[in-house]
Amino acid sequence: MEQLDRAAKKMDLSQNLHEILQHPEKLHIVSLPIVMDDGSTKVFLGYRSQYSSILGPYKGGIRFSRDVDADEVKALSFWMAIKVAATNLPLGGGKGGVVVDPREVSESELERISRQYVRALYDNLGPNKDVPAPDVATNPKIMGWMVGEYSHIAGMPVPAAFTGKDVDDGGIAARATSTARGGFYLLEKMRIKQNKEANSMRIAIQGFGNAGRVFADLAYAAGYNIVGISDSRGSIYCESGFDIADVSSYKKNTGSLLGYSGATEEWPESRAVLEVDCDVLIPAAIENQIDSSNVDRIKSLLIVELANGPITPDADRVLEGRSVVVVPDVLANAGGVIVSYYEWYQNYHGEQWDEDATNEKLHVQITQAYDDIAKMSQEQDCSMREATFIQALRRINDGYEKISQIQHRKVI
Ligand code: NAD
Repeated sequence: MEQLDRAAKKMDLSQNLHEILQHPEKLHIVSLPIVMDDGSTKVFLGYRSQYSSILGPYKGGIRFSRDVDADEVKALSFWMAIKVAATNLPLGGGKGGVVVDPREVSESELERISRQYVRALYDNLGPNKDVPAPDVATNPKIMGWMVGEYSHIAGMPVPAAFTGKDVDDGGIAARATSTARGGFYLLEKMRIKQNKEANSMRIAIQGFGNAGRVFADLAYAAGYNIVGISDSRGSIYCESGFDIADVSSYKKNTGSLLGYSGATEEWPESRAVLEVDCDVLIPAAIENQIDSSNVDRIKSLLIVELANGPITPDADRVLEGRSVVVVPDVLANAGGVIVSYYEWYQNYHGEQWDEDATNEKLHVQITQAYDDIAKMSQEQDCSMREATFIQALRRINDGYEKISQIQHRKVI
């Protein structure tokens, strides 16, 4: 809300819309009674926050976690509304979840929870209403169960009701790498603009999962030096740069980065990597990693936020004061939702694009969003984060005015 208020002050956001955007349009809380494997019944809580549908159907993930609550899905669905508007997608923002630790239930119980979630929310979901996707601890298999249940109730196949599905269920191959790829395209754009060679730039990455590892692969293949990497167990450093394929196979075999023989230094903390000497820092793990306790030791002058919310607001202000360029999460990791939109679009229209064509579209869409936001940041003399919010809110404002005009005409 603070981010919304700051951006609203800098632009001509209508007072009505500012008021409307303080709350999600709808917040669903559903109870999911599940017959467990031992025959007992247990009730799980499910949430879906549908923040704004001004620009199109709600879009956003479903997470399975013990920590899911109403405030969390509300905040995340607001960020989704900003992300899709900033990247010019005809979508709104949504987010949902179930209060469950997937490690504590069997696979068949997990399937029943997934299907019951769809049954409970069926009337509020669908290709023209709300199109969920995977998020924390959910995956293509779970999306397959959910789209199967949705189609069963609808009485026909509706692949466009969910994205992030397996390719066999109507998903698209490009989705697996799209979050990292989107961030990578932005880094390339900035590098080329600054007339630098990739091999002159050192990158440190926190997080070696779907986002961080794929980013490392792409950057390494393009010639960048990856000098720092971390996972939840610790950080490794090598001034001359790592061979990423070799690091990946070490991590796959041992389950850890620590002990890798190509490292010249290592620390048992994931956050240590944030402080190494580098030109580009990629937080790609979890939220709140750069805060007031470590912000003064951050050396990189460019940060590309692949993770959601890795910098706390107070640390963000310190970095802004030091003129560190931060490409904000709502832009940097938007490659995932952009390609999810392509999946929805293809399912909806019965089309199938090949992976290269999908990646090329992603490239055009995310770099165009970057250009618009960089221009806005210059015009408004503000950070990229604030410019992203302003850009998104302008689009939502335009959509809101159009809807208001149509509704007004109807009344007359
Ligand atoms: P992932 O689970 O595949 O990988 C997470 C990485 O972070 C792993 O290396 C893990 O070891 C590390 N990690 C986990 N807990 C940690 C902790 N407590 N401290 C330090 N490191 C920890 O997840 P991912 O899909 O790569 O997502 C990473 C970030 O990117 C998240 O913030 C996520 O919200 C964001 N994101 C991902 C996608 C996507 O498509 N994967 C899309 C948008 C945003």
